[in-house]
Amino acid sequence: MSSLPQPAGNVIIHTINSRIANFYLLETGSGVVIVDTGFASAAPAALDKLIRLGYGPRDVRLIFLTHVHADHVGSAAQLRRATGAPIALHRADAAKARAGFHTMPSGRGLGGKLFEHAFNGLHLKMSFEPFEPDLFMDENSTLREFGLDARVLATPGHTLGSLSLVLPDGVSLIGDAMINQLRVAMPMYGEDNALACDTLRKIHALRPRLVYSGHGAPFTGEQIARYFEFKHLDPEQAGV
Ligand SMILES: [Zn+2]
Ligand SMILES: [Zn+2]
Repeated sequence: MSSLPQPAGNVIIHTINSRIANFYLLETGSGVVIVDTGFASAAPAALDKLIRLGYGPRDVRLIFLTHVHADHVGSAAQLRRATGAPIALHRADAAKARAGFHTMPSGRGLGGKLFEHAFNGLHLKMSFEPFEPDLFMDENSTLREFGLDARVLATPGHTLGSLSLVLPDGVSLIGDAMINQLRVAMPMYGEDNALACDTLRKIHALRPRLVYSGHGAPFTGEQIARYFEFKHLDPEQAGV
């Protein structure tokens, strides 16, 4: 595709597209960690990819969820049944997982506010198969016991329980803290937009080399820096 740098070490990151969302299969050298699960229709694509890579369902060691939104957890319950792997997420997003739905978080900017009011005014819900988390993770949890050399970063804002994964050599998976749809930017929605800006500063301070997000192609730390210059990270201004 592009000349983006690839992750170093023995971790290989495979992207699976679930309509507008991405999720990831990470080959760790001692199995597989799944990061997010796409919409409810995505489980067959994940299981098919596993088999193509030469693994069986039982080689999945963990299902790690960056946050509980329907486009990221829609297949979590199905994939747990198929693989036997535990589901990990942040405690602050657990209620949405148990409920099996969420409303649209607060919109940012004019476009986000219009969409939020239209969506919630119609009393629409984003629903998915509910599930009980197996493990809670937070800042500085590690995934080493699941075969992945990665630490967890608490990156709240988009949801209060949003998490990111920091791999060695400047590679991060950040869920929807920042997305790459029209361009690299914060999404139009967040449960706490001021916190979302703090989170972006935190991710920027990592000086990441390569970032995988929930939407769009991977991007570089330089692209995040350009967004900083452009928006000055004003919570009202930030957004697509
Ligand atoms: Zn989201
Ligand atoms: Zn998303």
